[in-house]
Amino acid sequence: MPLVVQKFGGTSVADADRIRAVADHVARTRRAGDDVVVVVSAMGKTTDGLLRLADDVSATQPGRELDMLLTAGERISMALVCMALAELGVAAASFTGSQAGILTDTDHTKAKILEIRPSRLTAALAAGTVPVVAGFQGVSTDHDVTTLGRGGSDTTAVALAAALQADRCEIYTDVSGVFSTDPRVVPNARRLPRVSFEEMLEIAATGGRVLALRSVEFARNHHVPLHVRSSFTWEPGTWVTEEDPTMEQPIVSAVTSDASEVKLTLTRVPDRPGIAASLFRALADETINVDMIVQNTSHDGTTDISFTVPRAELPRAKKATADLLVQVEASELLVDESVAQVSLIGAGMKTHPGVTATMFETLAKEGVNIQMISTSPIRISCMVEVDAAERAVRALHDVFGLAG
Ligand code: ASP
Ligand code: MG
Repeated sequence: MPLVVQKFGGTSVADADRIRAVADHVARTRRAGDDVVVVVSAMGKTTDGLLRLADDVSATQPGRELDMLLTAGERISMALVCMALAELGVAAASFTGSQAGILTDTDHTKAKILEIRPSRLTAALAAGTVPVVAGFQGVSTDHDVTTLGRGGSDTTAVALAAALQADRCEIYTDVSGVFSTDPRVVPNARRLPRVSFEEMLEIAATGGRVLALRSVEFARNHHVPLHVRSSFTWEPGTWVTEEDPTMEQPIVSAVTSDASEVKLTLTRVPDRPGIAASLFRALADETINVDMIVQNTSHDGTTDISFTVPRAELPRAKKATADLLVQVEASELLVDESVAQVSLIGAGMKTHPGVTATMFETLAKEGVNIQMISTSPIRISCMVEVDAAERAVRALHDVFGLAG
């Protein structure tokens, strides 16, 4: 029998009605002849609520206890989904991450999966029972409960699909798939029937919020076909799969924007070997993720270095850089918090020149100034003033003919 992993996000299990609708769908899938493993997120905004509660109680939140708290959210969902299935006459059993055999490292609140030993799930399947697994959690090599980082249920689902050699992994959410851009910004954005893993990785990394980045990496590395679709309409959504070498790839598939980063600039840094190394070493030692980097050509032996970091890491980045300012004899540290990154993604870019020129011309026509640029073989990103980002997205979506 084909095996499908079905993951239901927070909005898909937000209340009793939604949970019953999920159970209906699982029952339907089984009647159609597929074996099903279900993975659930916490109901609605439960995880945010638990985090707020922790903040209210204490400023000191040991990772071990935070994880114990947060994993409760998914446990509520899994038990309720099993009850709703029982009501429909479908045998189901819930499993925590630990019971499902998800082994992680000890890095609380952002643990990485080391290994999956799904023997209890395979036994349940063999007995005709639907396993319902709590997403976002595992058990560490120290036998403590861990979580996989926000949005981690996607990763649970994909990892289980890989371990169980499922035929596909369906990610149910409140949107009907992956779009050519955010439909809230551009109402005529088009649902993409299919994107490659590489494109999806770039989309997830540059502000497309449909799938957690790590789950896409996992799916690509383990060749798990993903189907992102709506649990409100149940219509077919977007397939995320290997690139089909026999097909012409779209030059541009999607436009994304992301205001989650800020820009720091060190001015008049002496232009000699080792300076950039010590700057980025200092940031790395603070485990700060640097994204874009621009160094200008030097004048009179000094240069400016700009780089971007996640907004949440600004205080730490500022501190790490300020200490260095004196050491490297730079003149000052400038911080620009009102920036956003606008990106074009498309697998066909690899073989079609001219996309960059069209992108820059379009931004110029809109009077949008480009502050920084970064590229990959299938992506071009420009850092722009945050207030110009939506205008840039609309114009680019239009010029590359992405509308539905
Ligand atoms: N409940 C967790 C979160 O909100 C995990 C997930 O939904 O994927 O981040
Ligand atoms: Mg979620």
